[in-house]
Amino acid sequence: MVMRMTVKIALAGNPNCGKTTLFNGLTGSNQFVGNWPGVTVEKKEGKLRGNHDVTVVDLPGIYSLSPYTLEEVVARNFLINESPDAIINIVDGTNIERNLYLSTQLIELGIPVIIAVNMMDLVNKNGDKISMEKLSAALGCEVVEISALKGTGIQQAADRAVAAAGKKVRPVVHKFDTEVEKAITSVSAMLKDVPEEQKRFFAVKLLEQDSRIREHMSSLPDVSREIGHLEEIFEDDTESIITNERYVYIASIIKDCVVKNKKRTVTTSDRIDKVVTNRWLALPIFALVMFLIYYVSVTTVGGFLTDWTNDVLFGEIIPPAVENLLESMGCADWLQGLILDGIVAGVGAVLGFVPQMLVLFIFLAFLESCGYMARVAFIMDRIFRKFGLSGKSFIPILIGTGCGVPGIMASRTIENDRDRKMTIMTTTFIPCGAKLPIIALIAGAFFNHSGAVAWGAWMIGIAAIVSSGIILKKTKMFAGDPAPFVMELPAYHMPAAGAVLRSMWERGWSFIKKAGTIILLSTIVLWFFMSFGWIEDSFSMLEADQLDSSILAKIGGAAAWIFTPLGWTQAGEGWKMAVAVVTGLIAKENVVATFGMLFGFAEVAEDGIEVWGSLAAVMTPVAAFGFLAFNLLCAPCFAAMGAIKREMNHIGWFWFAIGYQTLLAYVTAMCIYQLGTFFTGGGFGVGTVVAVLLVIGFLYLLFRPYQATDSLNMDGGRLAKAVK
Ligand code: GDP
Ligand code: MG
Repeated sequence: MVMRMTVKIALAGNPNCGKTTLFNGLTGSNQFVGNWPGVTVEKKEGKLRGNHDVTVVDLPGIYSLSPYTLEEVVARNFLINESPDAIINIVDGTNIERNLYLSTQLIELGIPVIIAVNMMDLVNKNGDKISMEKLSAALGCEVVEISALKGTGIQQAADRAVAAAGKKVRPVVHKFDTEVEKAITSVSAMLKDVPEEQKRFFAVKLLEQDSRIREHMSSLPDVSREIGHLEEIFEDDTESIITNERYVYIASIIKDCVVKNKKRTVTTSDRIDKVVTNRWLALPIFALVMFLIYYVSVTTVGGFLTDWTNDVLFGEIIPPAVENLLESMGCADWLQGLILDGIVAGVGAVLGFVPQMLVLFIFLAFLESCGYMARVAFIMDRIFRKFGLSGKSFIPILIGTGCGVPGIMASRTIENDRDRKMTIMTTTFIPCGAKLPIIALIAGAFFNHSGAVAWGAWMIGIAAIVSSGIILKKTKMFAGDPAPFVMELPAYHMPAAGAVLRSMWERGWSFIKKAGTIILLSTIVLWFFMSFGWIEDSFSMLEADQLDSSILAKIGGAAAWIFTPLGWTQAGEGWKMAVAVVTGLIAKENVVATFGMLFGFAEVAEDGIEVWGSLAAVMTPVAAFGFLAFNLLCAPCFAAMGAIKREMNHIGWFWFAIGYQTLLAYVTAMCIYQLGTFFTGGGFGVGTVVAVLLVIGFLYLLFRPYQATDSLNMDGGRLAKAVK
């Protein structure tokens, strides 16, 4: 009988070594993208092209198997717990020295390793020579040369991995200093219940005093004698000793196997970089690139597509068609209302963003894979690091000025988990396109159209991002430096069209799925609250101009006291602001329309000119500005919340993000109202005192010293050391 065996192959390598490119080449379209259980690190799995019994797993990019970043923990846990049948270790041939640091660790795991030296097209172009035979002998495992981008050698790499899968592993050939080897041997001897081929790995980890290795071991031998001995001889901590040994070993390999072209010519890529990363030109060029992208995806092509989807497809085509259909079926009024005003309108509003997003995603995917994004991150990193974000956070925030949803989703390009979470939490602070009508409304109704209101809104957004970055960074949760910038800049090249389209679709599709589930559900609930209520003591469905009798209005009324400190209570109409905030959760442009309905106008212009008078009668300008700030900072629309939930991939983190945003919005709006009222001569009261205390508390959080970090969060210092 022939048994069909399934084989699992893991792709491991440094960030940017070409793993994803290889993964796509090997799996074609048979792939699954998700997150690792419980963490937001991207998980990609796929079936090998032409051999569906082989599963390929793309591990997160890592520099070492130490557990200092979440990525490292995820990759390591996968390798130890799931023990794949073989590992393809992708090594960037143009950066071979740094890449081999991880290789020397992977080889110790007791799993067959095939080393795939990638970017051979560039290596050849540079005129460098790498001897694969010598490399194979020096590392004690098979080595193949590939170009993931051109697709050369990748089938061979996969074949070798499949052939090696589950085979007995050759003993590790490398030798560290004799004293270190002696210690490894004696610790290995203590490891009774560890399989022979994994002993070296665990012995090294124990000697390094790896804090998390105990999770993988049933019993922990006492190795303090060995550690003490080594530390005495080398006058250094064991972790540094072993890191150093690895580098000595790698240096000897490089000397034997690699011949660098001395007369290396300046490549086109170098020439482009001279201009693009130039001290003075970098930022203007970047601004220009982003402006062009923005212009095309938001104003011209994307804007046109979105307007068409919103106004024509979900305006003139689908709703009448659905209405006719429902009429002809003799559908009940309430059901028609639910389907048309609830589902079609709600989901339509969300899907309306899709074309724009897809256009934007194409550009992003292009910039990402041609190599420019890495430069942008590099350029912005110095600035962003000052307030705890990484250079890569800039892109999501910038995109967030158009729409928070693609902005949040663009945070995927941030490899480091903490940096990404922080970016997800702060991206929607920047005013998005849908918040512009609220700005126009407040500016028009209270501030004589002053452009300073829009400017102020932007400043609030930017200040919220910067101060959140600093404040969160000082909490235990986010402590530690942003992931250090050790990434090598890949050479520029023309990306493959397939890869760009796939990346666009992956992002777009996951958004569409969201629109079909959580957004749909929230829309239905809110529709119900808005459409039903009590008219003359009988519960019934309401007409559009009876919103003030709805359940939502009742809830708004009951909850209005919450907003009293924000000054939304003038003339007992505070509940209208509360209701507007809630309907703003469907889509922020609803805020203006809701005021229209509440003040008795069926139809209002985008800036809500009809309600200016009514609004000015129930709020002071200071309260109105606070109201604006609240809407800018509080939980974003359902679509963006869906994106946050997906990207966080953890319900606790999702609520933390939403809670933080709403709390910040509340505190900001309250301080604006209370202090603004005081300074405009509105008198002094309890509220003023509370606001002053809140400001002091805020300043404390902003300026207090950084927290001590635990070892998992120490990647900054440690990693920098590891990669020298
Ligand atoms: P990952 O971070 O390891 O997943 O790396 P990616 O697959 O995203 O690749 C990083 C960059 O290197 C991308 O711009 C790729 O197009 C590029 N790249 C990958 N493989 C090759 C290759 O063989 N040759 C060249 N010239 N570029 C490559
Ligand atoms: Mg990748």
